[in-house]
Amino acid sequence: PVLYLAILRPMNNQAQLIEKQKEHLSAIFDTLSEGVALNEIIFNHAGEMVDYRILEVNKAFYRVADFVKNDPNRGQLATTLYGMDSAFILQFWETHKNATESTHAEMISPISGRHFSITTSPFINNRFVTSFQDITKRKRAEEKIAVSEARLSVLISTVDGVVWEADAQTFNFTFVSAQAERITGFTTEEWLTPGFWVKQLHPDDRLWAPDFCAECTLRMEPHEFEYRLIAKDGRTLWLRDLVTVVSQEGQPKWLRGLMVDITQHKLDEAHICRIQSNLIAAQKLARISFWEWDVLDNMAVWSDETYHLFGRNKHDLNEHRQDFLNLIVPADRDRVNRALSDALDGSRDYDIEYRVTLENGQTKTIHALAEIVRDADGTPLTMRGTVQDITEKKKTEERIEKLAHFDQLTGLPNRIVLKDHFKFALSLAQRRGEKLAVLFLDLDHFKDINDTLGHGIGDQLLMETSRRIKSLLREEDTVARQGGDEFTLILPGTHAEGATQVALKLIHALSQPCYIQSQELTITPSIGIAIYPDDGDNLEALSKNADTAMYRAKAEGRSTFRFFTAEMQTLSARNLQLANALRHALVRNELQLHYQPQLSIQDGHITGAEALLRWQHPELGMISPAEFIPIAEDSGLIIPIGEWVLRTALSQLKAWINEGLPPMVMAVNLSAVQFRQQNLPELVSAILHEIELPPESLELELTEAATIGNPQAAISMMNQLHEHGIRMSIDDFGTGYSSLSYLKQFKVYKLKIDQSFVREITIDPDDKAIVTAIISMAAGLGLQTIAEGVETAEQLAYLRLQGCNEVQGYYFSKPLPADKFREFSLTLK
Ligand code: C2E
Ligand code: MG
Ligand code: MG
Repeated sequence: PVLYLAILRPMNNQAQLIEKQKEHLSAIFDTLSEGVALNEIIFNHAGEMVDYRILEVNKAFYRVADFVKNDPNRGQLATTLYGMDSAFILQFWETHKNATESTHAEMISPISGRHFSITTSPFINNRFVTSFQDITKRKRAEEKIAVSEARLSVLISTVDGVVWEADAQTFNFTFVSAQAERITGFTTEEWLTPGFWVKQLHPDDRLWAPDFCAECTLRMEPHEFEYRLIAKDGRTLWLRDLVTVVSQEGQPKWLRGLMVDITQHKLDEAHICRIQSNLIAAQKLARISFWEWDVLDNMAVWSDETYHLFGRNKHDLNEHRQDFLNLIVPADRDRVNRALSDALDGSRDYDIEYRVTLENGQTKTIHALAEIVRDADGTPLTMRGTVQDITEKKKTEERIEKLAHFDQLTGLPNRIVLKDHFKFALSLAQRRGEKLAVLFLDLDHFKDINDTLGHGIGDQLLMETSRRIKSLLREEDTVARQGGDEFTLILPGTHAEGATQVALKLIHALSQPCYIQSQELTITPSIGIAIYPDDGDNLEALSKNADTAMYRAKAEGRSTFRFFTAEMQTLSARNLQLANALRHALVRNELQLHYQPQLSIQDGHITGAEALLRWQHPELGMISPAEFIPIAEDSGLIIPIGEWVLRTALSQLKAWINEGLPPMVMAVNLSAVQFRQQNLPELVSAILHEIELPPESLELELTEAATIGNPQAAISMMNQLHEHGIRMSIDDFGTGYSSLSYLKQFKVYKLKIDQSFVREITIDPDDKAIVTAIISMAAGLGLQTIAEGVETAEQLAYLRLQGCNEVQGYYFSKPLPADKFREFSLTLK
């Protein structure tokens, strides 16, 4: 400013004063460290600057401006002094003519290479000041910094990580190296936005990482930590951050650090972890574990699974090999020791199965394998290998072995064993000229028990049956289960009489009630017998024929046995034919009902009619229900056929009533298979309702077979039918095995005395006694009696005498077609 005064103030008359001031000024002027020159502009005629003249320079000017071409005398022109050309002057003029502030420029002295800063003042009254400052020192320092910065930035850019600086209070970044963008996808600008770090932290790590960092910062401790950061593309990055705290006046000011991307490393780590835990899990699953035994110091290392496998806790055993050997079942110990020494001397591989005793006393079977590591001389150093729990495998092997030869449920031999035994028995029989019996045994109505009571009970019944069969047989006999409820017996050295004996014993023993899960079950067998050599000379033929005979036993009432006869061969073929034909019988209208009157013994009026099925086959002619009903039962066709019978019989009754026939009851035979149908009461009620008949018009004839097997279920079914108002009678009474104790619980209305007793009533005293007993017992229980198969006047007379209520039989009428029945009932009137 002092200098400007000198410029601004023109000389005046107070010359003395001015002179003094001048002196002061030039004194000050000369003390300045900068070289200063006061200049005056020279114009041409056109008013353009062509040069300028130096009016005044200070002392420092000579020192500083080492580049001037000539001595800087006052009055000298800039073009001469500085060597400027006109172009430069012109440009100088252009840039400065309107300037209101000083301008700065820098230059390097071409002579000394020193740096100068040149300040040019604004032009005032065509004068201006230039000052020169030597800035070489500063320039050199700046260059140095630039070089080291460049070096640093190269360094930073090569570091595999983000070099960063952040505010110690806010954690806002003030600098991040280029890697920041490469690693995270965020630009440097984004990194530098306030709150960036905390915002991008993984939510879980945001809970602790800023706090941790803040605590370390407060204590001014360098720290290192790992956390996750969410990259721009959403990926989760794992970073390891090494942080130093930079303080200022004892306070944390900056944080500087290096972030390293350890994502891949973490993934690898997790991968290895997973592989490791998979390996452990696999070992566990496979029950394989590893061990290593240091042969020299006799110490072993066992993987955790080994302890588990040996059923011990880790702390219960030390690592001494002997501890483990002690767990081996004593009987196997020598073998294991031998295997070990064989393996050590190289004579055999270590591959052995042995058993170990668990703490609870059970044993496990172990399979051990090992290899031996030897030194250069072949001395064994360590032995390492695996142990595997093969207990289950062993058990399975044994089970398979058994399965191959024995029936799983009953433990009886199977077909394979049976064949074997037969071969042996046959060779003996051939050699000795003996006979051999093959029996085929099938349980009656077993399927119903299985269906109604469940397989659990069915299975137990089969087990009990096989126990009973075995208990009756001799040592040399064989019984095998054929599957289901079928058994084959081979009785060596047995002829027809012997076989009869065995069959009777079997029927008796198997018909005794069994108690299974607090249920009383009774089941009977049907048995077919074939004899070698009469009925075949190989197992196939003999079993097939025994099977045929068994079917005959079934057809002829079950709970009995039959020998195979040549005539059966043709019959079994007929059975097959009938079974097929029966399928179409209903739809082809081949079935018919005949009706047999039932009469009051007192006054002879018709009390009812029994509906009896007739099958008129187009080629085979009339087929007896006794023959085709069992076939219908086996195929399940009895269900639709039975429903048809009910509907037809009741419709017929309704028709007769409508025609004015006296009221009566329709008796319909019900198969045991129908009786086990759960919806039977509803079905019967629905049909009665449909035909508009009261339930008392119907009487269902049940056989004792319906109650055999599961009397409780039979009782409950009878109760239900009774609740629906439906009457029931027991058909063929006296021939079955039903116990009298149950009879009291049966909600039946009538007993039908079987015709076999009635037939002999006048000849056989036993039958007489039985009939008498049945009638009086029925009276005692409040039941009605009807005698069927009455053929003679004598029979009728005896029955009347005993107090039998009703009769049915050829003596009165055979079963008749509906129109004939109607006629018959009218003749009686
Ligand atoms: P069941 O119920 O005991 O029927 C009586 C059988 O004795 C009938 O034979 C009948 O014709 C015959 N019979 C009647 N009176 C005399 C007589 O004085 N002397 C002789 N010797 N026999 C007489 P059928 O009709 O051949 O029936 C045989 C069996 O077939 C029936 O015995 C019954 O158990 C069954 N059955 C018949 N129809 C049906 C039916 O619709 N459903 C079911 N489930 N079974 C039926
Ligand atoms: Mg009947
Ligand atoms: Mg009968």
